[in-house]
Amino acid sequence: MAQFIFLHAKGMKGFASLVLALVLSAGALAQERPVRPLDVPMSFSGTYGELRHDHFHGGLDWRVGGQVGDPIHAIKSGYISRVSVSPWGYGNGIYLTHPDGTMSVYGHLLAFREDIAERVEAAQYEQESFTVNLTFGPEDFPVRQGDIIGQVGNTGSSAGPHLHMEIRDAEKDIPLNYIALGCYTPLDKSAPQFHRVCFYGLDDSPISEVWRVHNLIRPTEVRDTLALPARSYVAVDATDRQEGTGAKLAVEEYRVLLDDTLAFSFKVGDIGFEEGRYIKSLIQFGESRRGGRDLVKSRVDPNNLLASHIESRNDGILELRDDAVHTVRIEALDEHGNRAAVRYRVRRDEMLQAPQADSSLTRLPWLWYTQNVVNDSTMTYMLPAGALYNNINFTYRCIGGPDPAIGIWSDIWEVGDPDIPLQLPGALEIAADIPEELEGKAYMANYGPTLSYTGVNVRFGTYCVAVDTAAPTIRFLERKGDIVNGSTIRIRVRDDASGVESTRVEIDGNWYLSMYKRDIISLELKEDRLAPGKHTIRITATDRCGNESHETREFTF
Ligand SMILES: [Zn+2]
Repeated sequence: MAQFIFLHAKGMKGFASLVLALVLSAGALAQERPVRPLDVPMSFSGTYGELRHDHFHGGLDWRVGGQVGDPIHAIKSGYISRVSVSPWGYGNGIYLTHPDGTMSVYGHLLAFREDIAERVEAAQYEQESFTVNLTFGPEDFPVRQGDIIGQVGNTGSSAGPHLHMEIRDAEKDIPLNYIALGCYTPLDKSAPQFHRVCFYGLDDSPISEVWRVHNLIRPTEVRDTLALPARSYVAVDATDRQEGTGAKLAVEEYRVLLDDTLAFSFKVGDIGFEEGRYIKSLIQFGESRRGGRDLVKSRVDPNNLLASHIESRNDGILELRDDAVHTVRIEALDEHGNRAAVRYRVRRDEMLQAPQADSSLTRLPWLWYTQNVVNDSTMTYMLPAGALYNNINFTYRCIGGPDPAIGIWSDIWEVGDPDIPLQLPGALEIAADIPEELEGKAYMANYGPTLSYTGVNVRFGTYCVAVDTAAPTIRFLERKGDIVNGSTIRIRVRDDASGVESTRVEIDGNWYLSMYKRDIISLELKEDRLAPGKHTIRITATDRCGNESHETREFTF
């Protein structure tokens, strides 16, 4: 029955709707099998469960050959329950609710189907906001399987034209690993590939120091026996391959064995958003932070909500109790049963020890399950219980004093080791002696080659109080040709200190739809919004310390 509907929905629209109406009344739609959202051959640039630093990729990224505009089809019947527009994230996104309790999500669209687009634009003008999030009922935009709902694009946080698609459990709002359900099965006879394997030592103090012992950048070419301290763990960068694409895709399962006994395994399965936010306790965070890819580590932290995906022995720590040669075997499996393995001979070397701790740092033992506070002269930092994944030696120091000439109005504090990940930020206070006339212009800044805005809730890093009295700069970018229907106007808006908080575009005194992204305001002049003739465009930009600037231009449409 399901196959019958699919075939007709593709070919004979009128007949299909009749068949579907009958099926709907029979309540048999739960049987409907998803069809492909695109007409192009199936090939993926991203798969479910890929490690993306602070989340797991919750969908499939469909390749479209580098160009935007391909039609997107609803994979199942249902109704459009939500539409979202944002400069970031999914950009133009559509959420389709299906009668079988699932929801399909489509991201980075170039354009919505016309009737949806009209509703979206009306809401944008009503709310005077580019970013909107609209919800709809079953009567607003019912959709049949195969219907075109929009066009493939590159909007939001997207690095090239593609369709991001998810299937979620609608009630639990969990993205489903539907490759495992067998909906879309690309040709995949290739095993995963190892890119890097690192070993880390753990000393035997009550709160272990961690240090990197081996960094194997050709992990499959190691023949020597590796020296390890008595306690260590391993972290691995592996990705999967599929035929016809060079993309680095998700590994479904990681396994680490010591002398053929399982020490650690992680299996992606279905990962909910809440669980997924614990990814920083699964990966070797310091390696990712230094611009690297994510390495899955075998050491299991106690505060790790991903526990249901993990099997481990001795918390994934490899213990060598004698001086014999042992083996560490690492396996990576994809979702189609292809497996890659690498095997190392290891031997205990008790001379391997953690590097000397830096004596200029103050150290405090902080436990993950309690609130932790440090209060020292001009600085207070409070970390809530559950913010840490494991017990740590918290370190801090003051590395400099105020220097108003370069915008620094307080002591500069190094707060914690930025290689240690946090599930939640802590509250930071730094005392600053600021003249009355500058009050309200102060902000907490990330200290580095330049100062950048951060709120008062921060992760481990180096901070000071800075002052911003300069309003954003506004510059109209030169454009060629006449201003006609469909012309785009671009304006560069920058704020070097606290950063741009908001921008507003008005034409002839009325709010006009524009997008602000990566320092650029862009807007399209449309004849259904503007009469022919002279117009005035006015830009307002405000930074995070409340400094405001304006710029006005006249143009003829
Ligand atoms: Zn994606």
